[in-house]
Amino acid sequence: MSPIYDALIIGAGHNGLVAAAYLARAGWKVCVLERRPVIGGACVTEEVWTGYKVSTAAYVCSLLLPAVVRELELPRYGFKLLLRNPSSFTPFPDGRYLLLGPDRQLNSDEIAKFSRRDAAAFADYEQCLERISRFVEPMLNTVPPSFPAWQWRDVFTYFRLLRSFFSLDVRDRRTFIQLMTGSARDFLDGWFEAEQLKITLATDGVIGAALSPSQPGTGYVLLHHVMGQADGHRGVWGYVKGGMGALSQAIADSAQAHGAEIRCRCEVAQIIVEGDCAVGVALADGEELRARVVLSNADPQRTFLQLTPPGCLPDEFVEQVRRIRMDAAAFKLNLALNGLPSFTCLPGDTAGPQHQGTIHLCPDFATVERAFADYLTGRPSQTPMVEVCLPTVADPTLAPEGKHIMSIFAQYAPLSPEEGGWEKQKDLFVQRILDVVETYAPGFRDRIEHIHALSPADLQSEFSLTGGNIFHGNMSLDQLFCLRPVPGWAQYRTPLRGLYLCGSGAHPGGGVTGACGRNAARVVLMDDRQNL
Ligand SMILES: Cc1cc2nc3c(=O)[nH]c(=O)nc-3n(C[C@H](O)[C@H](O)[C@H](O)COP(=O)(O)OP(=O)(O)OC[C@H]3O[C@@H](n4cnc5c(N)ncnc54)[C@H](O)[C@@H]3O)c2cc1C
Repeated sequence: MSPIYDALIIGAGHNGLVAAAYLARAGWKVCVLERRPVIGGACVTEEVWTGYKVSTAAYVCSLLLPAVVRELELPRYGFKLLLRNPSSFTPFPDGRYLLLGPDRQLNSDEIAKFSRRDAAAFADYEQCLERISRFVEPMLNTVPPSFPAWQWRDVFTYFRLLRSFFSLDVRDRRTFIQLMTGSARDFLDGWFEAEQLKITLATDGVIGAALSPSQPGTGYVLLHHVMGQADGHRGVWGYVKGGMGALSQAIADSAQAHGAEIRCRCEVAQIIVEGDCAVGVALADGEELRARVVLSNADPQRTFLQLTPPGCLPDEFVEQVRRIRMDAAAFKLNLALNGLPSFTCLPGDTAGPQHQGTIHLCPDFATVERAFADYLTGRPSQTPMVEVCLPTVADPTLAPEGKHIMSIFAQYAPLSPEEGGWEKQKDLFVQRILDVVETYAPGFRDRIEHIHALSPADLQSEFSLTGGNIFHGNMSLDQLFCLRPVPGWAQYRTPLRGLYLCGSGAHPGGGVTGACGRNAARVVLMDDRQNL
């Protein structure tokens, strides 16, 4: 049978859609196959309850590449980012609170409540991260060089990276190395003295990481989370108007406007391999589709250990894939409320600065360390670290009039908890999360109308995220850049000719970036020019 499509894409996560959009723009006949009834993968809006548009998984946006927004003309297809000011609120048990955001004067005044020295240092801290982010940012758009380098192109890329590294001043170079290799806590200790400020900033270092903030590796996760630019504002996270799925929809519309086909409820059961070449896919309902290339937006373990027929890949590669760490850590809770929570330290149930951004419910490092210690024993944390967002404050169209959506991200949750698994533990953990919120906002529980909870096991079964890992693989130094997904295969290609990885299991990893899809499409088009 001759190929019908130029490219088949397994999965309509935002990265699969980005890859589809670029290939369609290059004139390719593309078909995206998604097993769920909706597109977007973890970047999705779902009507969980009638009249509520819930970003069931990812809930804030900052890392999306400006190049993707521009080149795919996303604003034309309805993409709009709603900035949050202030962007962060941390209430403390002693009745104080800390607001932070894009407003420098606000930051200085707020931090000075805890430490004048830190207030003076904060602008320098932000500028330092800005310089380091400017150095790292081009790497997100870069197809990683092979490791070890074996082509002149790779040698040249390493050379370019080194030159750019040495263009940083000595202090920034040291800071960059500290971030890449050290812990978020050590890094922040070097800048600040007030625990209230440090714990607020440290949360970025542990989200989805299955690590405590004092463990090496969290420095990079912190950098990863402050590197983005919401509408050109560094480190600021925004809401997507209409929910995160509106972004996936804009990418899909951009792809479809150039002829891409997108099929939902269409599960790929297996990649069809002939010789050493991927030539199509077999769907779960038995239909077979053929193409010149196949791109997988599924995570690397699902792609190579489940979708690729056994025996088609080199044993050594399969073993490397098996060893990718895919730890679960995060639990997502979505609530429908009949009013806003009123916080003891800043009361009020009409929208105020405390409701605008991310609300960090974690008063000190000891609480996170204890929460992590529970996780290490195989149990969901007794007192979880909780982050809360209220997207309806910025975008009332998401819920019926007068109602609100509360999005809660809680750490730490193992994939298969001891003592009865999630079947027994899920409701108990939900209650513990609600207890945390209730501590800071008494009466909040009475406002809850609906609850939707996703444990790591749900993320695995409903969103196809192997291990419940939200990033398609831990974002640790040994699984980044030219080592992602595995050493030797970081350039979106795979040992099978015609099979590519385009999801966040590839460089630059997790988060709503669009970078994996964009880079993968570039490699596919480059290989095509060189006759695949
Ligand atoms: C709960 C949660 C909260 C998060 N919060 C944020 C956040 O606020 N901001 C942020 O930037 N990032 C966040 N992230 C991370 C971010 O959402 C992901 O890293 C990113 O969306 C992954 O995109 P992707 O396109 O690479 O993969 P995915 O979104 O995982 O898409 C893969 C797609 O492939 C499909 N698929 C898999 N197997 C098959 C098959 N056999 N056949 C057909 N289709 C298949 C899946 O159904 C899915 O649609 C969060 C993630 C989670 C889970």
